[in-house]
Amino acid sequence: MNHPASYKDRRVVVLGLAKSGVSVARVFHGLGADVVVNDRKERESCPEADELTALGISVICGYHPEDLITSDTALLVKNPGIPYSIDPIQRALELSVEVITEVEVAYWLSPAPMIGITGSNGKTTTTTWIGEMLEAAGMNPIVAGNIGRPLCEAAAEASADNWIVAELSSFQLKGTTAFRPRIALLLNLAETHLDYHGDMDDYVASKAKLFANQTEEDIAILNWDDSACRQLAEHGGLQAKVIPFSLTEQLQQGVYVDPPYTSVQPEGTDSEEADEAVRHIVWRAPSEEPVALMTVAELGLPGRHNTANAMAALAACLAAGAAPELLTDSLRSFQGVEHRLEFVREAHGVKYYNDSKATNGTATSIAIRSFPGRVILLAGGLDRGSDYMELLPLFKERLIGLVALGETRQKLGRVAELAGLTRVRLVEPEEDAESTLREAVRQAAAMGEPGDIVLLSPACASWDMFKSYEQRGSMFKNSVHTL
Ligand code: ADP
Repeated sequence: MNHPASYKDRRVVVLGLAKSGVSVARVFHGLGADVVVNDRKERESCPEADELTALGISVICGYHPEDLITSDTALLVKNPGIPYSIDPIQRALELSVEVITEVEVAYWLSPAPMIGITGSNGKTTTTTWIGEMLEAAGMNPIVAGNIGRPLCEAAAEASADNWIVAELSSFQLKGTTAFRPRIALLLNLAETHLDYHGDMDDYVASKAKLFANQTEEDIAILNWDDSACRQLAEHGGLQAKVIPFSLTEQLQQGVYVDPPYTSVQPEGTDSEEADEAVRHIVWRAPSEEPVALMTVAELGLPGRHNTANAMAALAACLAAGAAPELLTDSLRSFQGVEHRLEFVREAHGVKYYNDSKATNGTATSIAIRSFPGRVILLAGGLDRGSDYMELLPLFKERLIGLVALGETRQKLGRVAELAGLTRVRLVEPEEDAESTLREAVRQAAAMGEPGDIVLLSPACASWDMFKSYEQRGSMFKNSVHTL
């Protein structure tokens, strides 16, 4: 395996000046490489450039120079979001220059073992949860990667006593070669990001790179309810020891729910949720008796998808050697990640949840299903052409009211009407987004009775009114706190 120090006095090109690019450039520069950083954005849009030029690193902004990749280029580290089709990357591949992402560099650099977490949905929640559980177990986790903090920065700080807990996207994984996490966790595989990957095979192959260099000393944790994950475990040539987790099957070994659910999502109006107080989360080590750790009802986060995330996180922490009794408190107390089914407060007997990250119908369906019923939904935002009819059955079965705002308010109002909802309010835009949202919250609060849930889960992106989903979620929380 390489180490960044082996690039001393050699040309290393860093493509893309985001946080991770800065971190990579600093690492190689610090170890004596001849680093060139390049970004297509204009210099004014690259505030990070100043910090690097102050260190004496060469930074070229505004275009990709033709002679960026020369025959003496030893390595190209690309930002994960940059497609492989652009000229400098094609040129590097022609010249057999190694093309990698920052994850690979962090792996070369890190003295600490890594837990790599990937999947189509639930990465940030599960990564954060693992971080909290390992912290509680005194195992010195450092949480980094796709979640925000560059992995190289974490790797540079780490010692052998740490665990690096790394959220990884398919884009990051595609650019790895030797990367070998001690524990690899694949949450699920849905069709997504096909614009970047071209087809599902490339997407699955990128995710599968998480396991590619693992040996039998390593652990692979996979979702047994997801046929694509299971296929990978059973036919993908994995070398690592597999720990499965499942909502629907009593396993011979792994983490599962007992008694199992009949399906991964609640179907129709069935309310298996009512039995959560008697469903146990069970850990069964190979050739050992099963151990019931706690009930599903005790988990800090609602929703069957979060039970799956909890089981995956638990499997990872147990695989890292944490004692089960040190993990259950964090499984109970974890309040989730901001803007993802985040509990805000209870006011006048009504509970308010912020799920501003739900920017499409699927995410909103998952959110609505996370509650047994009596939900007042606050939704709407940027219009991307969907008619939201996929939400009709859930509107019928689970909602008692809808407050719609933003560009899609009429469309959502129409679905609510078809669902036979009688309490529907469309909020007209006020002088600014904050006032409109405050009015929407006020209307939802006026509908609510003790025991009800008010859920902001917009099913739409935020950019028609807000800078980001984070801003939308924060403004929602502010309004809820003034009720
Ligand atoms: P990611 O980091 O993969 O985008 P997050 O943890 O940020 O995932 O969760 C984003 C949204 O994805 C959540 O609000 C929820 O609607 C949905 N989600 C979370 N976990 C799962 C899961 N295990 N399966 C399906 N959907 C999930």
